[in-house]
Amino acid sequence: MSKDHNAQACVNNCDQCPALCCRYISVEIDTPVGDDDAADHIRWFLAHSVNVFFEDNGWYILVSNPCQYLNVNNRCSIYETRMNICRNFSNDNCEFLSKWEPDLLFKTVEEWDRYWAEQRNATERRGA
Ligand code: SF4
Ligand code: SF4
Repeated sequence: MSKDHNAQACVNNCDQCPALCCRYISVEIDTPVGDDDAADHIRWFLAHSVNVFFEDNGWYILVSNPCQYLNVNNRCSIYETRMNICRNFSNDNCEFLSKWEPDLLFKTVEEWDRYWAEQRNATERRGA
């Protein structure tokens, strides 16, 4: 997820934040544009309650599960041995101060099916 705002402000707000960045994972997936298999994979993700979003020209799955190492104080309980993806997390991408709004977000198969049908119709109208 990415929304630009002042990185230092984000650092200063970690104490007030319920560790939003430790409560989900997102992983880039194949782009479905022109790819029926990739589009069908998206239906499968959604059928398992895994959301799918499009942002900055990339497609991602979004799994909203808190990390098991988040303690009751919203702190990392394995800070010294935390994973590299946590070490490399940039505050520039922090979502605490900026509401996260992807370009597209899908939560159900039905939402996706409507979108995909519109895309196919638009492609046909263009004669592609
Ligand atoms: S989402 Fe931002 S403010 Fe919240 S803990 Fe993560 S880096 Fe800190
Ligand atoms: S390992 Fe620590 S820093 Fe990484 S997601 Fe879990 S609680 Fe957050």
